[in-house]
Amino acid sequence: MRLTFLGTGGVWAAPVHGCTCAACEAARADPSRARAPASALLEVAGLRLLIDAGRTDLVDRFPPRSLDGVLLTHFHGDHCLGLTLMRWSMAEPLPVWCPHDPRGYDDLTKHPGRLRFLTCAAGDAFCIGPVTVTPVALIHSRPTLGWVIAHGAQRIAYLSDTRGLPDATFATLETAPLDLVVLDCAYPPGAPDPRGHNDLDEADALLAQLAPRDARLTHINHDLDQYAAVSGIVCGIAQDHETVDVG
Ligand SMILES: [Zn+2]
Ligand SMILES: [Zn+2]
Ligand SMILES: [Zn+2]
Repeated sequence: MRLTFLGTGGVWAAPVHGCTCAACEAARADPSRARAPASALLEVAGLRLLIDAGRTDLVDRFPPRSLDGVLLTHFHGDHCLGLTLMRWSMAEPLPVWCPHDPRGYDDLTKHPGRLRFLTCAAGDAFCIGPVTVTPVALIHSRPTLGWVIAHGAQRIAYLSDTRGLPDATFATLETAPLDLVVLDCAYPPGAPDPRGHNDLDEADALLAQLAPRDARLTHINHDLDQYAAVSGIVCGIAQDHETVDVG
């Protein structure tokens, strides 16, 4: 399995409009330090699966027949805005596995075009070819699913957006070793409540409990980038375009 981060940013990813903090100024000066909306491309067993779709350039990146489906964590704009453009296409239907969320995303779910929304429930595993996908519940302000993807003995989990994890999700994650966990970590330690994302201390504690072979933090906001630059803590923070090979 190969996971490529198409974006690693939260909704306040550097550069934030109007912000003059060091992280945002650095991202303006060097676009390679800017972060696109958190999303990834998973390549496994000849399949190409998009995890989340907040980038607005997806129609340029993925010509017809270059994607086998989308695993959508939830219907916040930073995760599904790109689908509003991908739906109007002459190409073949595109499956979008997603949580049950009656609000959806305005006319995206009312007028899905070529998108085929397939509602999933936590714990109900399904197969895409030889790949097994298990949705797991996350803790966020909207119905949100993480995705556990298994192929042969390889197993990865993509867990964003969330703050903490439900017990049932821990139980699913702990049934077998995890080669890679990608985890929401939007804030530096001690960020004020209320919030729907982990801070760095919370993310570290979750990863210590899950003990995956490898891990990356995603959904990074500008204040975490600034904290990481000052503290020197960059270990595990994913970068846009980074690729992780599993197995
Ligand atoms: Zn900033
Ligand atoms: Zn969200
Ligand atoms: Zn988000």
